[in-house]
Amino acid sequence: MEEAIVIIGAGQAACQAIMSLRAEGYEGPITLIGEENYAPYQRPPLSKKFLAGEIGYDRVELKAESFYAESGVTAYWGTRATEIDRRAKRVLTNDGRYHPYSKLLLATGAQVREINVPGFELEGIHYLRNIEDVHAIQAGFKPGARMVIVGGGYIGLEVAAVAKKRGIDVTVLETADRVMARVVDPIVSHFYERLHREAGVTLRTGVTVSGFEGEGKVAAVVSGEGERFACDIVLVGIGVIPNTDLAHEAGLEVANGIAVDACARTSDPDICAAGDCTSHPNDIYGHKLRLESVHNAIEQAKTAAASLVGKEKPYNQVPWFWSDQYDVKLQIAGLSTGYTDAVVRGDPESGKSFAVFYLKDGQLLAVDAINRAPEFMMGKILVAQKAALDPARIKDESISVKELVAK
Ligand SMILES: Cc1cc2nc3c(=O)[nH]c(=O)nc-3n(C[C@H](O)[C@H](O)[C@H](O)COP(=O)(O)OP(=O)(O)OC[C@H]3O[C@@H](n4cnc5c(N)ncnc54)[C@H](O)[C@@H]3O)c2cc1C
Repeated sequence: MEEAIVIIGAGQAACQAIMSLRAEGYEGPITLIGEENYAPYQRPPLSKKFLAGEIGYDRVELKAESFYAESGVTAYWGTRATEIDRRAKRVLTNDGRYHPYSKLLLATGAQVREINVPGFELEGIHYLRNIEDVHAIQAGFKPGARMVIVGGGYIGLEVAAVAKKRGIDVTVLETADRVMARVVDPIVSHFYERLHREAGVTLRTGVTVSGFEGEGKVAAVVSGEGERFACDIVLVGIGVIPNTDLAHEAGLEVANGIAVDACARTSDPDICAAGDCTSHPNDIYGHKLRLESVHNAIEQAKTAAASLVGKEKPYNQVPWFWSDQYDVKLQIAGLSTGYTDAVVRGDPESGKSFAVFYLKDGQLLAVDAINRAPEFMMGKILVAQKAALDPARIKDESISVKELVAK
């Protein structure tokens, strides 16, 4: 069969893969199938400056739409891939077309986890994953409106910060006993709880939502304890699920994401996968990871592009993330899961600048840097080196971050 690369999903990973395929010297045809009506764009601003109306679409699109034709890409927007026929090596789309491939890339991302409680279908209950979601939220984003946010994770808290600045009355309901409990130490959670409360957000932890009430439109969120939170608009931010159905139905190995090796290859040698939809090995931590981050989508897409043209460029990097809330930038280098000590550098009780170093038996696993770019930058390097650090030196701010490993 003739050379033809098909990419399913038109997001961050897909856009990077196109650039990398051409940079790797691939000159054959590329077909891009995206179910959204937009060319690939950045999602992080959707809960930050784009939601706030501070930047428009031109600042979130990853490449101008002309880029795709100029790069020899046949792009189908608003088109969903519905089946992968691995025997015939072709992809079926919902417009009835078949797209033959010699190599296929799955870059299908993730979808929001929905809340399945009575009243979930009422108008005014929103999720946030794409541009259309933002437009729907913005319609109810009026000063004085009462907004309840279900979920105190990154998305919920970022939206809370934007909404508060807009003059909206914001209540955040979190099931766990603290915000961002899945990813950070209580020290960081409590810092963010203070930040939001000082901004005027009503923050309630240990509250589980059991239903929504209203006549057609949501008017209240109800907790398991029977408490009612009156509202005009609701945002649910309770996590995402990787888009693996296509891969699963095609018989590819799926285990908490599409299973790929370090070269982004699935269990079919002609199919790679990259981004939020994958579960991939990571040597630094010695186990498989499923990540939801721009860095992961970009770097894994580079690896996948190399594999698609027959080269090996294994992906094995320190994961990193960020979150912007008010004037505070959180940058996370590495993954803290399994830490035994959280060592603080700086003062989390007052001010807005400190870092938490997560150690496991003396070895650095991750760094949360709150308005601390040097700690973040150095953290990435030290985590990759699996550096052993002395807690006393971490705490001592007279020692620069660059010298933390020096004995
Ligand atoms: C509101 C928000 C804020 C975020 N903030 C941050 C942040 O601050 N920092 C950070 O690192 N990350 C952040 N992220 C996460 C980051 O945006 C994702 O990790 C990244 O977009 C993943 O890229 P991807 O290409 O894997 O998936 P996506 O960008 O989700 O792209 C996948 C695309 O595939 C499409 N698709 C799926 N199935 C099909 C199909 N069958 N046929 C056709 N098309 C299909 C989807 O509709 C989607 O357009 C944020 C995400 C959101 C939603």
